[in-house]
Amino acid sequence: MEKIEFLKNALKEINIVADENKLMQLLKFYDMIVEKNKVMNLTAITDFEEFVTKHIVDSLEIIRVIDLSGKSLKMIDIGTGAGFPGIPLKIIYPDLEVTLFDSLKKRLVFLDEVIMSLSLKNIRTVHGRAEEYGRKNEYREKYDLVVSRAVADMTPLCELCIPFCKVNGLFISYKGSKGYEELQKAEGCIKILGGEKSKVSEFSLDSSKRFLLSILKKKPTDNKYPRGSGKPFKSPLYIETRICT
Ligand code: SAM
Repeated sequence: MEKIEFLKNALKEINIVADENKLMQLLKFYDMIVEKNKVMNLTAITDFEEFVTKHIVDSLEIIRVIDLSGKSLKMIDIGTGAGFPGIPLKIIYPDLEVTLFDSLKKRLVFLDEVIMSLSLKNIRTVHGRAEEYGRKNEYREKYDLVVSRAVADMTPLCELCIPFCKVNGLFISYKGSKGYEELQKAEGCIKILGGEKSKVSEFSLDSSKRFLLSILKKKPTDNKYPRGSGKPFKSPLYIETRICT
């Protein structure tokens, strides 16, 4: 089967109908990753069909918890790496205003090339550490939607991500098979950060269990968070909440 047909069918299975321009953009993104992967570590997955399933379809599975079509939400992808889920989301939902955020500059330089080459508009890359940028006025509580995939365990991840979220905004985390356990452990921390568990979606992707965990921000995050000096990782908030109770 031709690549474009395979991609089109894979998207159709999750109820996404993409026009030819979007399909070509996704194919170009795949080609660029495979080419750059020869000189830079971007992904272990280079087989086309596996890439479509595990990177593109997985990124778009967010459709299970939120319909983004026609929505001009301000979205940030924390720890975007090679652009997942941010680039597939921007291609399929061009009305999104997207920030691709990562602490590794060279991946962002690659993503700037992708943005140029695909003529994507209203999207930028920002280089920094989430625990520092989440304290800056320009970024703190400025996003309607915060997404993150494969970056950290849910408890430190919430401390990194929830501060970026506006009140009434959503933080959606893409998780593997331990997602629900991680969420249960993080519940105290989510509350401390001003969030509340919203939707949880469990699904199977290529025989692997996946979770989408959606957190609604109910009130502003206390200025104490995120803590600096690696504390979200060295002293995760579930330990602190256990000590407090
Ligand atoms: N989200 C991508 C994906 O699903 O393929 C990349 C996942 S990769 C395993 C984790 C990424 O998070 C890396 O690119 C790393 O540089 C970034 N990262 C880790 N800790 C971070 C932090 N504190 N602030 C910003 N980026 C971070």
